[in-house]
Amino acid sequence: MTQRSAFYRSILLLTSILSRAQAQSPPPTAAIPDIVLHGTIEPQKLGTHEILEVTVPPGIERMNVTLESPGFSKGMYLTVGLFDPQRYRGEGRAIFTLSTVDATGPYIAGPILPGQWKIAIGFNWVAPEAHGVYTLRIHLSRQLDPETYPVLNPHAAWYKGDLHAHTGRTDAMCRSQSGKNVPCPPFRLFEAAARQGLDFLAVTDHNTQAHFDEMRQDQVFFDKLLLIAAEEVTTVKGHANVWGTEGFLDYRAAETGFTINDLFDQAHRLGALVSINHAYWPFDGRCPGCGWGWSPITDFAKVDAIEIVNGYHEKGSWFQPPPGNGIPFWEAQLARGLRPTGVGGGDEHRAGEQLSRHDGVGIPTTMVYARELSQPAILEGIRAGHVYIRVTGPDGPEILLHAGPAIMGDAITVPSGSTQEFTAEASATPEGHIRLLVDGHPVEAPSPNPRKTSLPWRSDGLRHWIRAELLDSAGEPLALTNPIYVNWPPDPRPPTIVQKAP
Ligand SMILES: [Zn+2]
Ligand SMILES: [Zn+2]
Repeated sequence: MTQRSAFYRSILLLTSILSRAQAQSPPPTAAIPDIVLHGTIEPQKLGTHEILEVTVPPGIERMNVTLESPGFSKGMYLTVGLFDPQRYRGEGRAIFTLSTVDATGPYIAGPILPGQWKIAIGFNWVAPEAHGVYTLRIHLSRQLDPETYPVLNPHAAWYKGDLHAHTGRTDAMCRSQSGKNVPCPPFRLFEAAARQGLDFLAVTDHNTQAHFDEMRQDQVFFDKLLLIAAEEVTTVKGHANVWGTEGFLDYRAAETGFTINDLFDQAHRLGALVSINHAYWPFDGRCPGCGWGWSPITDFAKVDAIEIVNGYHEKGSWFQPPPGNGIPFWEAQLARGLRPTGVGGGDEHRAGEQLSRHDGVGIPTTMVYARELSQPAILEGIRAGHVYIRVTGPDGPEILLHAGPAIMGDAITVPSGSTQEFTAEASATPEGHIRLLVDGHPVEAPSPNPRKTSLPWRSDGLRHWIRAELLDSAGEPLALTNPIYVNWPPDPRPPTIVQKAP
């Protein structure tokens, strides 16, 4: 049997395996075996295409393709052209992904149609004496989200980022070449975030994933700025950021039927976190749907985070909220024994074009302690509450709170009658001071050192939360921490929602 006939037999075998798999209707979460095809590389194939055929089953959201071959240095240069049952999808790379909403390189995002796909292996160069074998590996996934994520930094650290930003795919504007106000290309936002020195940026356009394709393409260039796939789900009665999913999120929440709680469940099933945005804005016609109008029916146990500082302070805006305005809404949930993480969101709509001192990407900056700089690790850090906010931006002062080895976000047990010391330290206090709060109420903790304050706190055995703020001379927060939770009930949220099905 020649290698070529063996090769075609493998295609037939593969087709029959896939047909059997379809007939048996595997459960939707079952992993699909990779399609692996081999072929020979020979000088007589130079300047030709070898057409392979594979059967793609229904229900596929993403395709990852890898072509392994000896490579140009060994005298062999091959490309992969891709044709779905209806149209051409791109040619030219050896490693790429394509899905319903994004793709890399020259490949075109769009539905992964079931049926016969044709793959054209292009023998662009085969040196006269070159002989080898290529392997084409196709990984099919029923989930839209990638199963692996880039790690931009492998070290545990405090990472700085912005969890709320818009591009011209929805309502962000910036000046065109001739100075007109036009929808702003996503690349401009990424550049602005990079200029700010941010480590991560969640791009949260309204009710769309239209920005995901450019994010996927540009992540290679922004190899120090993690772009987090996100969406600001913009309902008729409030806005919620969803970080870490590419699946469809139904923004049509209503009082009955599919409610806001069902939307939160939908996001969690897709491996994402949800955060209520700028909830303190008035629920009136000035910014339709911007305040949180779902409070009476919201199951706040499903809420992972609350945006307590929003940076939307453009000149002429309807809103000029002082920093920290979201705190009462957040603390109302803490008082109920819940523990949504307090976060900041720049809500940038100008790609960093400075219009006022508050405007810009990363104002405020959310600092997250994470085991590495990757999307899953940042989400884990947010979920754990290992977060503080630099209100004035990425270069603003640091503030850290600890009680022994516990840091903000952690829960500790302090039995009745015993004393636990809480210490807050700031990197710089040019004119301000540190304030500690127990259950939202400031407590006196006089300290000779304006950069460090300790509170010996005597427990009554009941549930409390202790957090810290660094205030400027006018009493406005420059930085604020999440609480350390004392004698707190177990976290009601599912423990590992950022883990995905295989
Ligand atoms: Zn909003
Ligand atoms: Zn927004």
